[in-house]
Amino acid sequence: MNKIREAFQRFMYGRYGSDRLNQAMLIVFLVCAMLDIFVDNVYFSVLLTSWEFLLVILIYFRVFSRNISKRYAENQKYLALENKVRRFFGKTKYIQQQRKDFHIYTCPQCKQKIRIPKGKGKISVRCPKCGAEFVKNS
Ligand SMILES: [Zn+2]
Repeated sequence: MNKIREAFQRFMYGRYGSDRLNQAMLIVFLVCAMLDIFVDNVYFSVLLTSWEFLLVILIYFRVFSRNISKRYAENQKYLALENKVRRFFGKTKYIQQQRKDFHIYTCPQCKQKIRIPKGKGKISVRCPKCGAEFVKNS
């Protein structure tokens, strides 16, 4: 068993290995493979299979690649994208939470978004940005 591991380590020496991008591609691959089980449509199935095929090639290519700096740069790009997506969904969740307790109005004058607590009846709102006043039902 040790010999196999050593041989593998020797083989992997100087090669890139796995990273977050590969993990993400593996997840996409698994999702495609799962979908493939339930899909009846031939064209969609072919599309999924080609995606799976492409992903497997890409994953193996990156794991065994000797161009480590290039693979590293790809991973950094992916991480930046993942961060953006995470931040977007974090923001959406925050807004949804806020919607439960607050009305969000837009100032008719400067388009500033203003948060008003719900359930206070008719209230006069003063825009903190431009000072315009308007009456809203909260
Ligand atoms: Zn305003």
